[in-house]
Amino acid sequence: MAVTDYEAVPEVSVDQHPQRGTVVMKFGGTSVAGPERLRGVARRLVSAHEGGSRVVAVLSAMGATTDELVSLAHQVSARPDPRELDMLISVGERISCALAAMAINDLGHRAVSLTGSQAGIVTDTKHGKAKIVDVRARRIHESLDRDEIVLVAGFQGVSTAQDVTTLGRGGSDTTAVALAAALGADRCEIYTDVEGVFTADPRIVPQARKLHAVSYEEMLEMAASGAKVLQLRCVEFARNHGVTLHVRSTFADVEGTWILEEDDRMLEKAMIAGVTYETEEAVYEGEGADPAEVFQALADAAVNVDTVIQIGAGLVFSAPSEDHAEAAAVLERLGAQWSERQGLGKVSVVGAGMKSHPGVAARTFSTLAGIGVRSEFVSTSPIKIAFYVPREDVERSVRALHEAFELAESTIEREHA
Ligand code: ADP
Ligand code: ASP
Ligand code: MG
Repeated sequence: MAVTDYEAVPEVSVDQHPQRGTVVMKFGGTSVAGPERLRGVARRLVSAHEGGSRVVAVLSAMGATTDELVSLAHQVSARPDPRELDMLISVGERISCALAAMAINDLGHRAVSLTGSQAGIVTDTKHGKAKIVDVRARRIHESLDRDEIVLVAGFQGVSTAQDVTTLGRGGSDTTAVALAAALGADRCEIYTDVEGVFTADPRIVPQARKLHAVSYEEMLEMAASGAKVLQLRCVEFARNHGVTLHVRSTFADVEGTWILEEDDRMLEKAMIAGVTYETEEAVYEGEGADPAEVFQALADAAVNVDTVIQIGAGLVFSAPSEDHAEAAAVLERLGAQWSERQGLGKVSVVGAGMKSHPGVAARTFSTLAGIGVRSEFVSTSPIKIAFYVPREDVERSVRALHEAFELAESTIEREHA
């Protein structure tokens, strides 16, 4: 049994009278790293505004600010209180927004920066990985009606218990898509430090190609298996609310990658969209436990279980390494016989065309065998094959699979209308 489980996405109350011409533009950490880049972002927002759009920007924290704040917390406390940690790390996004608003004002346009809470992003109460449950966009509309450019601090909201929450690493992507859905925006543009979604992480496969179009399903699988260019939750939101995403470069004015509904041309042109990887996989193995009890307890602890494999009485599952402490505590509490497999990473081949092209499994197995990599577990979905391999073999496996499926060739290019 192998399961890829995606959680339900809440209904957000879409504006009854969507205004035409709203655009949500999200800028990641590298895109706002430093005063010069922030001024560049301000110029882009102003030019979208001058083009006639109602402009809502979602900004990330500058550069490595979030990492630095997390590290600061750990220097002060061995186990930072989750509520206080959220108070701390939500600050980075506020800094970017306030600075960008100043730069926009200097360009002669009016701008207002808002925290997640002020922007009406309401979440559940799970600190550190809160989920958006509602977007109350009245204040944003009022600002847009006054012809202001609205800057919303990404990655955060206010919980139903009125505390500041954060949405998990990479969460500004999700803020942007939730706002685009709630505002009935025409476009949601994700500006980042690469030119789009590539056939593999360009940092480890220099020949990787930019994909023109990727289906929601493929992007979900890619995000879930390590392509951190988009947060998984943001893709779930986009799919469920029909938000078309355009992932593109902050630094070059070129077309990026469109994330949208699957289209026949995607299936015909290329069976594989990309190869993704994760270097840190927490894999747990046990026997004799009641799976229903185990997974309920993990769900209650908000552990996001990824792959599940059951063979007879044996159960294997993986979960994000950041959920490690919670997962270990749950397993210990259940008193089950569990062990953890150390040193594993995961390499996945993703593509909607797999559904209609046999032989993908054969080619992946023979490619890994050809470079002497032995996988410990394999899990599949209709459009993905994932191999758990020793961590030190991850990068060369990605490169070998990228080559075996000829992903650097231009024939894989997909167009969409
Ligand atoms: P941002 O700060 O803009 O949110 P991220 O660092 O979260 O940017 O995501 C962009 C990074 O994702 C890229 O620099 C790239 O190294 C990495 N990445 C991993 N896999 C892919 C992929 N398949 N396509 C594009 N980028 C990828
Ligand atoms: N600043 C947060 C992070 O580094 C959120 C984001 O950039 O999307 O994870
Ligand atoms: Mg990101």
